[in-house]
Amino acid sequence: MAFQSIKELLEQNSAENIPLWETILNDDLTSQNMSRAESLERMQYFWDAMKHSVDSYDPKDRSNSGLVGGDGEKMRMAIASGQLYGDTFMNEIIMCALKVSECNACMKRIVATPTAGSCGVMPAVLLPVVKARQIPDTTVVEALYIAAGFGQVIATRSSIAGSEGGCQAEVGTASAMAATALTWLGNGTAQMCAHACSMAISNLMGLVCDPIAGLVEIPCVQRNVIGAMNAISCANMALAGICHRIPTDEVIDAMRSVGDLMSPDFKETARGGLAATPTAKIILKEINRKNQFQ
Ligand code: SF4
Repeated sequence: MAFQSIKELLEQNSAENIPLWETILNDDLTSQNMSRAESLERMQYFWDAMKHSVDSYDPKDRSNSGLVGGDGEKMRMAIASGQLYGDTFMNEIIMCALKVSECNACMKRIVATPTAGSCGVMPAVLLPVVKARQIPDTTVVEALYIAAGFGQVIATRSSIAGSEGGCQAEVGTASAMAATALTWLGNGTAQMCAHACSMAISNLMGLVCDPIAGLVEIPCVQRNVIGAMNAISCANMALAGICHRIPTDEVIDAMRSVGDLMSPDFKETARGGLAATPTAKIILKEINRKNQFQ
């Protein structure tokens, strides 16, 4: 049976005295009724698909609305020109998040981690880290189990849907999952992963879901960037030994209660936030007019 809390997950892991990812893998085998080899093969498949989602980026692609496309390429060119703040590693994270999210808006194949709208966060942090540190696929697969384990508890106790909990539930969860995976890859402990998860959720708590014209394009693509940067920051804080004062389960529960209190206008209905701005309304009208003539 899937874990109901991070406390339960960490306690079981401590009792088993095995790596955290193995505890999550073993649980997956029971819940999915599959063999260890099948589960590992499936996770490797997801990792391959994530890598492919960046490789399949085409700078010429545009979403059906025409609102999204080409920004990943702009970022690549700006990195090459040397004009940006920060180092290449950091800017490659931004570029990967843009590329994968743009691929999603352009209907290309992505891995929903945990949703299509937040699909850019995990590959954005994993690919540059794996490249910089030459991490083998087998280790990345372990980190994906860590992310999946924490993500599953968030989904169980709270939500991973913008329509239910706002963008905090989508990009916030993706960021938390990515933060745990990064903490693990940085040789962090199970407890450090929990702190990284708590910090990542806390930092994005209250984030509303307000997609312009109801399309998973704006602000979604750029929000994936902030989800990825938040993940790196929280993983680094956790690896530095910085703790979050509130237990992870309580942080997740707080996210749920914030989502419950959130107006429906901020839950993917495109009635509030950026979606309700005068310009967004003009964009919506233009899209509707274009669609009428198609
Ligand atoms: S704004 Fe809404 S649709 Fe866009 S990524 Fe966030 S939750 Fe998903």
